[in-house]
Amino acid sequence: MTTKQLLEKNAIQLFDKELDTCDKNEVFDILMLTTKELMQEKEEIDGDKKVYYFSAEFLIGKLLSNNLLNLGIREDVSEILESLDMSLSELEELEHEPSLGNGGLGRLAACFLDSIATLNLNGDGIGLNYHLGLFKQHFNNYKQCEEPNEWITPLSWLTKSDKRYLVEFKDFYLKASLYDLDVIGYQTGKNKLHLFDLESVSEKIVKEGISFDKENILKNLTLFLYPDDSDHNGQLLRLYQQYFMVSCGAQLILDELEERGFDYKDMDQHVVIQINDTHPSLVIPEMIRLLVNKGLTIDEAIELVSKTCAYTNHTILAEALEKWNLKDLEEIIPHIVPIIMELDMRAKEISDDEKVAIIDEDDRVHMAHMDIHYGFSINGVAAIHTDILKENELNHFYKLYPSKFNNKTNGITFRRWLLSCNKELTDFIDSLIGEGYKKDADELEKLLKYVDDEKVLSQLIEIKALKKKELCAYILEHEDITLDPDSVFDIQIKRLHEYKRQQMNVLYIIHQYLKIKGGYIPKRPLTCLFGAKAAPAYTIAKDIIHVILLLQNMINNDPKVSPYLKVVMVENYNVTYAEKLIPACDISEQISLASKEASGTGNMKFMLNGAITLGTDDGANVEIHDLVGDENIYIFGVDSDTVIQHYEEADYDPATIYEEDEHIQELVDFIISEEMMEYGDKESLTRIHKELTTKDWFMTLLDLNDYIETKDQAISDTVNTKEWAKKMLVNIGKAGYFSSDRTIGDYNEDIWKLR
Ligand SMILES: *Cc1c(COP(=O)(O)O)cnc(C)c1O
Repeated sequence: MTTKQLLEKNAIQLFDKELDTCDKNEVFDILMLTTKELMQEKEEIDGDKKVYYFSAEFLIGKLLSNNLLNLGIREDVSEILESLDMSLSELEELEHEPSLGNGGLGRLAACFLDSIATLNLNGDGIGLNYHLGLFKQHFNNYKQCEEPNEWITPLSWLTKSDKRYLVEFKDFYLKASLYDLDVIGYQTGKNKLHLFDLESVSEKIVKEGISFDKENILKNLTLFLYPDDSDHNGQLLRLYQQYFMVSCGAQLILDELEERGFDYKDMDQHVVIQINDTHPSLVIPEMIRLLVNKGLTIDEAIELVSKTCAYTNHTILAEALEKWNLKDLEEIIPHIVPIIMELDMRAKEISDDEKVAIIDEDDRVHMAHMDIHYGFSINGVAAIHTDILKENELNHFYKLYPSKFNNKTNGITFRRWLLSCNKELTDFIDSLIGEGYKKDADELEKLLKYVDDEKVLSQLIEIKALKKKELCAYILEHEDITLDPDSVFDIQIKRLHEYKRQQMNVLYIIHQYLKIKGGYIPKRPLTCLFGAKAAPAYTIAKDIIHVILLLQNMINNDPKVSPYLKVVMVENYNVTYAEKLIPACDISEQISLASKEASGTGNMKFMLNGAITLGTDDGANVEIHDLVGDENIYIFGVDSDTVIQHYEEADYDPATIYEEDEHIQELVDFIISEEMMEYGDKESLTRIHKELTTKDWFMTLLDLNDYIETKDQAISDTVNTKEWAKKMLVNIGKAGYFSSDRTIGDYNEDIWKLR
């Protein structure tokens, strides 16, 4: 049957109507059902060895458009919809975005699933089916409020499987159910994302905002991603979640081994477990325990698991390297404790250095340490990050196991971040270099021969202008703010964290505001866009949001300033919003303190869509910088060696800078000015002011002047549109390296060895 016939069949089946008499909501349902059916028919990818990607998050985004693209029928469907006077993008508005991730780490997992399937590799994702996911962000009184995010609808992409798993806890067993989501590759077959769940969980226990009874495990286990862990019960709940996920995952792996007709003892030949950050680390002792239950000796089980598990490190921020109290483990999963003690004892025989111990003197279990001792591979996610792991953060481990360490620079799927979100640019690239780059991203380099082609350059600018207009319409609709599409669009979208330094961007905005107030007329108007959620218990991050929202209100309503400067923080930043913002961006803000951003992937998405990076030499910015050269990127700030040295010597003092630099003092003091206090929360503003002037752990003031100067330069360079368009073209042409197809190819070559 043709796509059209399938849609017509399903119109009858669902609504007993002809397709062309259906309304938008009906057509959406018909299209969802049809797409799901077509996916069901896709052949499952198989192979002798299979990777299981364990991750607490999968930030998959909406799936309709992407699935149509990968099925190869997106154009078909678009045409059919047009004949019905509808468009794919308006139907997409009806889809709910799955709320199964938080930020870059979860988005990476989603890009990886797409690339694993596209490369025809046998590999599934393992995670949890959070009913309310990450909170939905709402602004009220210039502050972030959190609401439950009910994303599961009867027509979601989840399919309930009939598999059941029993998970043992200290005082009870829980019976897990399993929901599967088909993951189809680009013109290839399909894999699965397995999401475990607990049927007794109930959204009804959620009270005001996102608060709920943290002790009611039967009802709360799979409610939220990253439930607030600022108290002990919250921490225990996260432990319940983690063990629930890995126990189910490990059981599923063993079942599949058996189904595929393999001996448990050959597990390492047929299975590889990729541990995405430390949240799934308990899979190591759990798998050992299950294998011992199957009759292996403890020695055999430990060796086998050590040859099966590989760990990806995502951060050097100390607070993010998970440690569990042995006491808490005993309270929840006592049967795992003797195994962890055994693993710790054996590790202590290899080295008595406290720095590499699994269980430390305070009886805390270091999850990353367990991963490194009992995994066969440990990788960082960008060249500089892996170097820092080897030379600094994990140097003691590197000396013990040099050959386990390797780098896998992150990547993004071009299907979502170019083909799907920027059709105009995709079509234009097609017309210049053909479609080969869609399977081999390096072919984007063919664009470089057009760097002096005026027609090509002006076409690029036109496409950017169109995407900016579209974003203006979207923002008017969703935020009720009118923007000037001819202004420079400067965008910082990422989780809110002090190390990412949204506060530095804020100080620039204050700088620009004060200049304009003082009579300065900029050559080009500037629009500063933010999107970010702050962890609900992260006070300073929420203070920063408060400052941005106050500035937004003050600046946008100041008739003297707003023609030249506007500020917008979009509500509930998520994948869908990213897909609208990124194609419209001129300047991509990647301004983390050097050494702190492991990789970043937002930086790659922007580059691919022709935005120019304004950033520090941090994470994958370093590799972007190497690829595009000094002329096509704006780099500022102290380098990572200097930063690391400041931390070692503990000699960074923001108070000195604040006292000695009058301009910096003026900018920082504006945060507690009368204008800000008029609508602002005094406590919040004073706190952030004090933080910046006394602690400034992420060295905002140190880089501020260089940032202001470099940003001013970037903005004024946009005036020369031809030169700017050249930079855009070089960035797009050099983005091929950041395809997650390349990253996954590398994982497979060096770690998984699936074929
Ligand atoms: C890509 C992406 C991120 C990661 O952004 P970074 O700038 O790398 O931190 C976070 N959230 C969403 C929705 C994304 O699409």
